[in-house]
Amino acid sequence: MRVRVDPLVCEANAVCVGLAPEVFDLTDDDELQVLRPAVPPEEQDRVRHAVRSCPKAALALEE
Ligand code: SF4
Repeated sequence: MRVRVDPLVCEANAVCVGLAPEVFDLTDDDELQVLRPAVPPEEQDRVRHAVRSCPKAALALEE
């Protein structure tokens, strides 16, 4: 599974960071950084939840 962010849509509110902090982080410039775009198996449920929870629908999954 891979996850990516559309930086033009993301508003850096950190919802995904709170739900999957091993995969998402905010930079000092308040840009979302995907730490692990190839999502490891143990993070996949958290990442699916984060994708569903993003209020801007800025995250996309490739299974
Ligand atoms: S939840 Fe969505 S809008 Fe918020 S930081 Fe993550 S990708 Fe960006």
